[in-house]
Amino acid sequence: MRLLIEVEKLRATLKEVFGYDQFRGNQEAIIKNVLAGKNTFVIMPTGAGKSLCYQLPAVIMEGTAVVISPLIALMKNQIDQLNALNVRAEFLNSTLSKKDINRIKKEVLNDELKLLYIAPESLTKLDNISFLKKANVSFAAIDEAHCISEWGHDFRPEYRRIKLILAEIRDDIPVIALTATATPKVQLDIKKNLKIEDSVIFKSSFNRPNLYYEIRPKDNVKKQLIKFIKENKGKSGIVYCLSRKKVEEVAQLLNVNDIKAAPYHAGLDSAVRDKNQDDFLNEEIEVIVATIAFGMGIDKPDVRFVIHYDAPKSLEGYYQETGRAGRDGLEGNCIMYYSYNDLLKIEKFNKDKSVTERENARVHIDEMAAYAESSECRRRQLLHYFGEEFDTHECGVTMWCDSCRYPAEKFEGMDFAVLGIKAALQTGERFGMGHLSHVLRGIHDQYVKSYKHDQLDVFGQGDDHDDDFWKNVLRSITIQGLLEKDINNIGVLKVSPKGKRFLEKPFSILISKKHDFETGESEDEADKDNISTAPYDEELYHILKAIRKKVAKDKGLPPYVVFQDPSLDEMATTYPTTRDDLARVNGVGRGKVEKFGQPFIEAIKKYIEDNEITPASEVVVKTTGDKSKQKIFIIQQIDRKIDLEEIAESRSISFNDLLGELEMICFSGTKLNIDYYIDRYFDEQKRENIHNYFMNAESDSIEVAMDVLSDHGYEEEDLRLMRIKFLSEFGN
Ligand code: ADP
Ligand code: ZN
Repeated sequence: MRLLIEVEKLRATLKEVFGYDQFRGNQEAIIKNVLAGKNTFVIMPTGAGKSLCYQLPAVIMEGTAVVISPLIALMKNQIDQLNALNVRAEFLNSTLSKKDINRIKKEVLNDELKLLYIAPESLTKLDNISFLKKANVSFAAIDEAHCISEWGHDFRPEYRRIKLILAEIRDDIPVIALTATATPKVQLDIKKNLKIEDSVIFKSSFNRPNLYYEIRPKDNVKKQLIKFIKENKGKSGIVYCLSRKKVEEVAQLLNVNDIKAAPYHAGLDSAVRDKNQDDFLNEEIEVIVATIAFGMGIDKPDVRFVIHYDAPKSLEGYYQETGRAGRDGLEGNCIMYYSYNDLLKIEKFNKDKSVTERENARVHIDEMAAYAESSECRRRQLLHYFGEEFDTHECGVTMWCDSCRYPAEKFEGMDFAVLGIKAALQTGERFGMGHLSHVLRGIHDQYVKSYKHDQLDVFGQGDDHDDDFWKNVLRSITIQGLLEKDINNIGVLKVSPKGKRFLEKPFSILISKKHDFETGESEDEADKDNISTAPYDEELYHILKAIRKKVAKDKGLPPYVVFQDPSLDEMATTYPTTRDDLARVNGVGRGKVEKFGQPFIEAIKKYIEDNEITPASEVVVKTTGDKSKQKIFIIQQIDRKIDLEEIAESRSISFNDLLGELEMICFSGTKLNIDYYIDRYFDEQKRENIHNYFMNAESDSIEVAMDVLSDHGYEEEDLRLMRIKFLSEFGN
C-alpha cells in the first residue's frame, strides 16, 4: 500500500512539477533508490535525463539537496530552469555578493530551498562547511562525477576532496554520483573515492542508435565543411574546434559563405556568449562554432550534426560532444575531420605539463588516433571503450557508421612490421616516421647521409612502397603497440617491449588499408591550393570578358569596376549559374551581383548547355583573409565615420597600410563609404578631376594614374582614396 502511494506521488510530482507524463529509462528506479536514502551511481549518456534523478527526489524530500557541479554556467542554467518550474533553488559560488550569500544561507537554514548548487571549490571553504553542518542536507548529488578520476578526461583535483568534506558535514549523507562518461577504470575510481562501493549502479546503454559516425581525412577541410553545411541547410549543427582562434576563424569563414553561424568560447564576453547561445537555441543562427565550453548543460533536442573540425583530445570528449546530436532520437550526423598532425599539436601543447598529466593526455590521444584510424565499426569501438559489448552486426544492418558502410580492406602486415621495427632499432630509436620511411625506402637525403643511415641493413629494403604506405604501416604498428612514441621527444618512435618480443617471434598482424589520413601539409597550405589554382575555362573566360566590356560600356564605367580579372577567372572555373553562386565568387559582393550579375549568369548557363558541361558541385570557399578581424574592425570604424588617421593609429598601422587594407576590402566586393573623409579633405575640383580620370581610364592602375596626374599636384594617397570611393560607388 505504502509503495503504491509512493509510486503515485512520484508520478504526480513528475507531472505537476516537471510536466512529464512518464519516467525515462532508469529514472524511476534511480529516484526510488535515492528516496530510500541509499547511495546511487548513475551512468547515463548525455541527454538521457540525469538531472531529474536528483531534482525530483530533492523536491519530495525534506531539507535541501546539495548539488556539486563543476561549471558555473551549467548551475545557472539549471537554476533558471528550476525556478521557472517554481522549485526553489540557488547556487553558491565565487560570483555572488556577500549579501546574496547571506540571504541564500538563511533560506537554506529556514528550509526554504530544495536544491543548493555549489562548486567544489566553494564547498571546501571553511565557512561553507560550518554553515552546511547546521543545515538539513537531504542528500548530495555529484554531477560530472568522472572529474574525480585522474583517468577521466576532465580531472579536477577539488573533486577528490568532496567525500572528505561531506563526511565532515555529516557522516551519513547519502550520495548520488552521476556521469555521462566513465570507462571501467574511471567507474572504479569514482566508487572508491566517494566510498560508495555499496551503491546500486544504474548504467544505461551508451549506444545511440540514431547517431551516424564518420571520420574524414582533413583535406580541404574548409571546403568540405561548407559543402556539408550547405547540403544540410536549415538544420542546426555544432562545429567543435580546439582553439578559440580557430573558433573565431571558422565562424567567420561560415559567415562570409552565407551560413548563419556564431562563435562560442570562454574568451568571449559573457553577454556575447549568452546571446550567441540564445540565437542558436532560437534558431536565429544555424551553426554554432565552439570550443568544448559549449554544450554542457544546453539542451537543444534537434541538433542534426556535430562536426569536429579538429580531432578532440579524448574519446570521452568526442563521445560527449557527438552525444549532443539527435537528442530527440532523430537524425544525428557526427563527422570528424581527422589529421594525425592535429594530435601531435595537442601533444606539443602538453609539453609543459607534469609527467603524469602528459602521460595521461598521451594515452587519450593514442586512443583517439587508434579510433580514427581503425577500420573497425565505430560504434563497437566506442562502446567497448566504455566497457560495453556490442554486436557489430546491428550497426552493419542499419549502416550507421562509416566503417560498416564502407568496409576497409586489410592486408597481412607481419613482414612490414618487422622492417619498421628494425628501422627504428637500427637508427637508435631517435627518429620519427618521416625519417624511418626514408631509410626504409632508400632515400639519400641529407639526414640519411649525415647519420650514415645508408649503411644500415634495413636501408632501402622497403623501396617497392611509397612514403604514404610506410607511414601508414608505422602508424598502424604504433597504434597496435609495437612501437611507442617517446614522450620527451615529440615525434620520435621507440620500440616497445611488445615490439621487441614481436621481433623475436613475429606473428600475423593486420594493417588496414583504407584510412589514409596523412595529408602531410598543413591546413593552410592545403587551403591555398584549392582556392585559386584551379585552371579556368579559357573560352568562357573570353566570353565573360566580352560581356564585361559591353556591360561597362552600357553603364558608362570602366570594365575593371564591373568585375576584376581574378573574379572572371573564378567564374570560368566554377560556372556559377545562380545569384547565390555568383555572390560566392571572390571579389563579388551582393551589390555587384545585383548591379551587373544577370548577363554573366545567363552567359554561363548558355555556355554550360552548349558545351554539355556538368559543373562539379564544387564549393568555392570565400576567404576572410588572414586579418579578418582587422578588416571587420576597419569596416565598423568607417561605418562610424572615424577619421582614417585615427583608425590607423588605433590599429598601430601606417596610413599607407590602412589604405592597403581598404583596397583589399573594396576589391573583394565590400562597399566602403569614405565620403565623410574625402569631403572633409578634398575640394570639389580635386574630387571631380580624379573622378573623371578613373571614369575614362583603361585600368585602375595607380602608377598609370600618377603618370597622368602627378604633374597636376596630386599625391598617390589622394588617388588611392578616390579609387576606393570610385570602386565602392560604382562597382560594389
Ligand atoms: P543529461 O543531464 O543526462 O544530459 P538532462 O537532465 O539535461 O540530461 O535531460 C535531457 C532532456 O530530457 C531535458 O530536456 C529534460 O527536460 C528531458 N527529460 C528528462 N527526463 C524526462 C522525462 N521523464 N520525460 C521527458 N523529458 C525528460
Ligand atoms: Zn558500425
